[in-house]
Amino acid sequence: MKHIIGAGIAGLTAALAMAPEPVTILTAGTLEHGAASLWSQGGIAAATLPDDSIASHIADTLAAGDGLCDPAAVARIISQGPAVIASLRRLGVAFDPAPGLEAAHSHRRIAHVQDRTGLAITTALARAVRAAPHVTIREHTSVTALHAPDGILAGLWVAHGATPTYLASSAVLIATGGIGALYHHTSNPPGATGTGLTLAARAGAVLRDLEFIQFHPTGLDTGQTPMPLISEAVRGEGATLIDETGQRFTAELAPRDAVSRAVFNHLATGHRTYLSATSIPRFAAKFPTIDAACKAAGIDPATTPIPVRPLAHYHMGGIATDAQGATTIPRLFAAGEAACTGLHGANRLASNSLLEACVTGEAAGHAMAALTRATPAAIPPRPHPATRATAPIRDLMSRHLGVLRTDSGLATAIAGLAPTAATNDAALLALMIALTARARTESRGAHARTDHPSHAATATPSTITRAAALAACPHRIAA
Ligand SMILES: Cc1cc2nc3c(=O)[nH]c(=O)nc-3n(C[C@H](O)[C@H](O)[C@H](O)COP(=O)(O)OP(=O)(O)OC[C@H]3O[C@@H](n4cnc5c(N)ncnc54)[C@H](O)[C@@H]3O)c2cc1C
Repeated sequence: MKHIIGAGIAGLTAALAMAPEPVTILTAGTLEHGAASLWSQGGIAAATLPDDSIASHIADTLAAGDGLCDPAAVARIISQGPAVIASLRRLGVAFDPAPGLEAAHSHRRIAHVQDRTGLAITTALARAVRAAPHVTIREHTSVTALHAPDGILAGLWVAHGATPTYLASSAVLIATGGIGALYHHTSNPPGATGTGLTLAARAGAVLRDLEFIQFHPTGLDTGQTPMPLISEAVRGEGATLIDETGQRFTAELAPRDAVSRAVFNHLATGHRTYLSATSIPRFAAKFPTIDAACKAAGIDPATTPIPVRPLAHYHMGGIATDAQGATTIPRLFAAGEAACTGLHGANRLASNSLLEACVTGEAAGHAMAALTRATPAAIPPRPHPATRATAPIRDLMSRHLGVLRTDSGLATAIAGLAPTAATNDAALLALMIALTARARTESRGAHARTDHPSHAATATPSTITRAAALAACPHRIAA
């Protein structure tokens, strides 16, 4: 059997692409619950209007990525935008007629279904997957370890109930989403703790560009966890960022990292920050999800500025993959937010991630379907369970790996994380992020160092493995 871990847009797309090759989807939630894909609001970027072009979408993506994008990956993924939209329409996704505008896009190109785009796409994909005879679905099933003897993927351990079970596998796709739940202030669902990244790292895979984490400037700041997101599309429709005096303090449609820093710095100097959407006609009809979240917190966006602050939103880094989604471990693939293709570089252009999840999911699905089946290896001994506790790690991530970073803060994070990194998955992932962030002595895209405010002369991707991370701080690792 071949396996897909995760039932977001990447995992579901891959499952459909594998037809008629049999595949099992394993998900900690259900097809309709638990994935960030269900929460995505603004939409999916694709150049579909006559005055737009693939070349313009590529240029905007490269500019947002701040020198670190892989140009071949950008061209490959962005050029498939119109085909992805057409294929989603065939599955029944009823996009609104006029594409929206989001920050750092030079054209209206965000295909959307009101502000429920992710829900509409995921629901259509889930319906197709539930009807597909080649797909077996195992819900409420978490993958806890991979087995890769001699560096080749051979199987995985799953937890469904008390007893862990081993499943032999000819190919595994990691489509487990992002890491935002490692922060206190986040838009991500609670399960987004990067388990797929540590599964891959423990199996020996190379991870790439881990230090690049996108902070969205406008989370609804009313004390909820996770925080409801006020989509960039609201600024695209003319909402302004103001403080308690009613003054604007930044350009609302600058790239996300710049707007997040502006909001963060304004808060740090004692101001309060708001998004004023009172000029947008028919707000509740255009943004029903955001309107409902605001009203649940006692705020009517049609009449009252919305309190906002930056939150952890998207991980540009992930498991290093090639154009087919292959990782550095034979028979192990990755797609969607868990993967790092080089599309986003140092900073994701808004709404490129749903496109990437569709394109990489499909490519990985085709590649996995084409793989010959492997002879099952002997059942391995049950691995020691790695703990996933995140509370102390969230403190270190939030304090030292946020919007602005310093060498001393990163050193403090590394010292706090290293002692448990060998046994605690969240600590291992946070340690790898802190090590790559400390080694990047420049500011680029979403990685902002107050002690190194400029760009280095050349933009170089970072890579790290679990072994390299543990070797970097041996005196601090607990036996
Ligand atoms: C509030 C919000 C709004 C967003 N808006 C947009 C937008 O407008 N446009 C855009 O392009 N992007 C947006 N994004 C980002 C985008 O939603 C994600 O990047 C994308 O949905 C990721 O899809 P995925 O399939 O990779 O992962 P996910 O959709 O996160 O799915 C991950 C799956 O893996 C499962 N899983 C995780 N760990 C395990 C495990 N160990 N074992 C088994 N299963 C596991 C989860 O249960 C889930 O099913 C938004 C994100 C958020 C949070």
